[in-house]
Amino acid sequence: MSDFEGLKALVTGGASGLGRATAELLAARGAQVAVLDLDPSSVEKPLLAYRADVTDDASVRTAVAAAAADLGGLDVLVNNAGIGAQGTVADNDDEEWHRVLDVNVVGMVRVARAALPHLRQSAHAAIVNTSSIAATAGLPQRVLYSATKGAVYSLTLAMAADHVREGIRVNCVNPGTADTPWIGRLLSKAPDPAAERAALEARQPTGRLVSADEVAGAIAYLASPLSGATTGTSLAVDGGMQGL
Ligand code: NAD
Repeated sequence: MSDFEGLKALVTGGASGLGRATAELLAARGAQVAVLDLDPSSVEKPLLAYRADVTDDASVRTAVAAAAADLGGLDVLVNNAGIGAQGTVADNDDEEWHRVLDVNVVGMVRVARAALPHLRQSAHAAIVNTSSIAATAGLPQRVLYSATKGAVYSLTLAMAADHVREGIRVNCVNPGTADTPWIGRLLSKAPDPAAERAALEARQPTGRLVSADEVAGAIAYLASPLSGATTGTSLAVDGGMQGL
């Protein structure tokens, strides 16, 4: 039996990028996987798909309940849905702060709240939150996004403490710049997207972006019994960006 066989997993933001790669990796290793996304129309079998907006508590509760019922329980929550924001404190107004915090932070809380009763029934319960290098790197022009990802990191530590005695592990991954449709969208706004991509790659110690599969591998490790004694940690997947 593999370390993923029989695990029932829910991946938010699983229709694209890091969430998609994670859902596919977990399924390929034997897990039964449900995806929760704003737009799950591209999600194919064997993945199960549920439409929900993490800013809408009712839609989250409905989707999580349906996923847990269809899977026959829930062992793993990958809390990954998130959006970006650019600018300094001078650039983002209150409305923008509330909008991005609502997705990136409160959205993860809503999904965790709905999933907890199911995770408590599992012998291998794990939550993996997607934070970012932005949580600790002090990135320019990313003040709002960085604050949300710092909050995800703190949320991870506090949740780990709260739920360790219930047998629920809580960890996060801190990806560096990862090659997903999100980064594609950002690059496409540059006057010369190819030159911008080359400059971005040149800033990485490895000379390349992190792949979505590499982040998925780290999430899968933290989601599985392979990391059974690990809780309240963050795992950097950043090609050495912060460590070197
Ligand atoms: P992506 O845009 O490719 O995928 C994000 C997915 O989340 C999409 O399918 C989208 O529909 C879904 N989503 C967005 N808002 C939602 C909402 N309100 N409700 C439900 N689903 C919603 O992005 P990605 O690059 O795969 O990023 C995924 C996560 O990884 C995010 O939390 C992001 O902050 C984090 N991250 C990304 C990078 C990177 O370089 N790509 C680096 C560090 C952290």
